[in-house]
Amino acid sequence: MADEVQRVYVASVDEEGGNSLALGCFSKEETAWQVLRTFLKKSDQMLLKSSSVVVWDIDVIGESGVTVLSTMECKDCPVCGRRTFWMDLDNFSALCHGDACAAWVEESTVEPGVIDCGWPPIRFLKQAKDIDEAFKELFKIGDQMKAVAQVDTLTDNQPQEMLEEFENQSSNESSE
Ligand SMILES: [Zn+2]
Repeated sequence: MADEVQRVYVASVDEEGGNSLALGCFSKEETAWQVLRTFLKKSDQMLLKSSSVVVWDIDVIGESGVTVLSTMECKDCPVCGRRTFWMDLDNFSALCHGDACAAWVEESTVEPGVIDCGWPPIRFLKQAKDIDEAFKELFKIGDQMKAVAQVDTLTDNQPQEMLEEFENQSSNESSE
């Protein structure tokens, strides 16, 4: 029986109050990750503290049957500000799961000790000497985005102003 399940992958999230929400128990690691990632996209709608994926070996008594594959902590995203920024503390990496953001921080695989960070929507990519500096870079992007958003709301009025200007000009011309 090659298909017999030997291990199960369990995804769960912890709320700030201490409640644990089970997201399911899966026969494939990839499925557990997919379910967790989908859930984390909406994590700004809840007060979550951490998430985990663990693997349980079937028919093993006690704690030796369980292995923690990943634990992640939830933070506010430096760029979009939503609480969808998940940090993997074991193998340092962090990613915003929020829609249209995907800001990330990760230790360089090429140069150990160097921290890479990026924001895909504008293809921003930067190397930093430590985690603090990487976060500062992302906060800068966040500030720029906020500034752009304010400019956007200003330009909402511009068509009206331009129209008024145009009407003034054309009435001047007709009176000449
Ligand atoms: Zn974000």
